[in-house]
Amino acid sequence: MNNRLYNKLIFELSVEGRKGYSLPSDEFEEYDISSLSPTLLRAEDAALPECDELTVVRHYTNHSANNFGVNNGFYPLGSCTMKYNPVINEEIAASREFANLHPLQPAETCQGALEVYYCVQEMLAQLTGMHEFTLNPCAGAHGELTGLMIIKAYHDHHGNKERTKVVIPDSAHGTNPASAAICGYNVVEVKSKADGTVDIDHLKELIATDGNEIAAMMMTNPNTLGIFEYGIPEIARLIHGCGGLMYYDGANLNPMLGVARPGDMGFDVMHVNLHKTFSTPHGGGGPGSGPVGVRKGLEIYLPTPRVVVDAEGGLRIETGDYEKSLGSVGCFFGNFGVILRAYAYLLTLGKQHVCEVGPLATLNANYIKESLKDVYELPIEGVCKHEFVFDGLKDKSTGVTTMDVAKRLLDYGYHAPTVYFPLLFHESMMIEPTENESKQTLDEFISVMRKIAEEAATNPELVKGAPHNTPIGRVDDVKAAKEPVLVFL
Ligand SMILES: *Cc1c(COP(=O)(O)O)cnc(C)c1O
Repeated sequence: MNNRLYNKLIFELSVEGRKGYSLPSDEFEEYDISSLSPTLLRAEDAALPECDELTVVRHYTNHSANNFGVNNGFYPLGSCTMKYNPVINEEIAASREFANLHPLQPAETCQGALEVYYCVQEMLAQLTGMHEFTLNPCAGAHGELTGLMIIKAYHDHHGNKERTKVVIPDSAHGTNPASAAICGYNVVEVKSKADGTVDIDHLKELIATDGNEIAAMMMTNPNTLGIFEYGIPEIARLIHGCGGLMYYDGANLNPMLGVARPGDMGFDVMHVNLHKTFSTPHGGGGPGSGPVGVRKGLEIYLPTPRVVVDAEGGLRIETGDYEKSLGSVGCFFGNFGVILRAYAYLLTLGKQHVCEVGPLATLNANYIKESLKDVYELPIEGVCKHEFVFDGLKDKSTGVTTMDVAKRLLDYGYHAPTVYFPLLFHESMMIEPTENESKQTLDEFISVMRKIAEEAATNPELVKGAPHNTPIGRVDDVKAAKEPVLVFL
């Protein structure tokens, strides 16, 4: 590849006076700008790069080829479920009929879009065992906040002013305590046992001292270690018994799809990350959608607007005054493009195949885990669900860290797993293969991971110096986060 073109900014390729176009002057007259009002004119020309057309095309084409996504290679990033994103979903989302809709359009003119909306609400309710869904929140974390606001509205409504605490396991994703805090709750941490699941004895102690102050407990299942929380029925009994509600963080819904339903386990409020479980490419922080579902009785608190069926069977947008509704939690209807992709994805799977997603994702994760646990440290033995965590290489004497292994994987054409999360272990490496990866792909990944372990033993400097084949080597992550340079100076 031409280094000159992709190592530079487009501004650095600029040559004064160069143009990217030429038009015949007998066809296109020079526009006389003196006819424009001076208030419309720039004082100076815009500072645009001056490049010839081919330089521009090559520059951006080469940049696009530097991007690594699920369409380039295996992408075992845990926790985020960056999964299969069928191209047909993109085509549907980009179609003129949907893309040109305006959120203020009268309902009679967008019945099709409202039907998509309504059907996704219904499908999610069926898949999760919840009574009703809102699709308005725009991300998982936004769903958490909305869900906790519903819980708060419920407690306020019932005069439970003393319920100021939310119980969250120590294995939780960081957004859980953050959402609880933003909603005005105090976070109480419940410990995990050695097998990675919630320590119910510790929970009982917390309930014994703080029971009447507990507003809710938030749980992820399978949890962020990829372990199924088999204690949920008992936990739900304990929390309900002391007057609290159960919140389900649905970011890991993938392995349960069509197999088990949070509504049946005793959860009262939950969110789904459509961009994770239902196929929207979401690198770099977006786009997302975090629908919130509630059990019967809590739907009165759901935010507006809502899409409802009217007496004639048409679909209507209700923004009106629901006495107890939270009101708006974002603009208009949330992220319609993501909702549309989820609909297309669910229709493509159908009832028949949606039940296979969870078992296959689980099988793939266990296959990788069992194939590598002799060379990578497995802190929690046993069957995992869709993802699992290694605590770095088994042989710690080489000094090769999880970060080094992650960087070396890039040299072999793989995206790195999630590293240094969850925080329960020092060298966390969280691996998640999705349900639709072939056995050949998994076998190749396993052999590369074994090769890196061997390199770590025989030539540790090679791994520590990785990546060697990428356009950019190791970036200073901390500096990039703390002193980002976002403009060309
Ligand atoms: C991703 C994730 C979240 C947050 O969801 P966003 O859509 O990124 O806001 C919450 N909990 C868990 C377990 C997650 O993996």
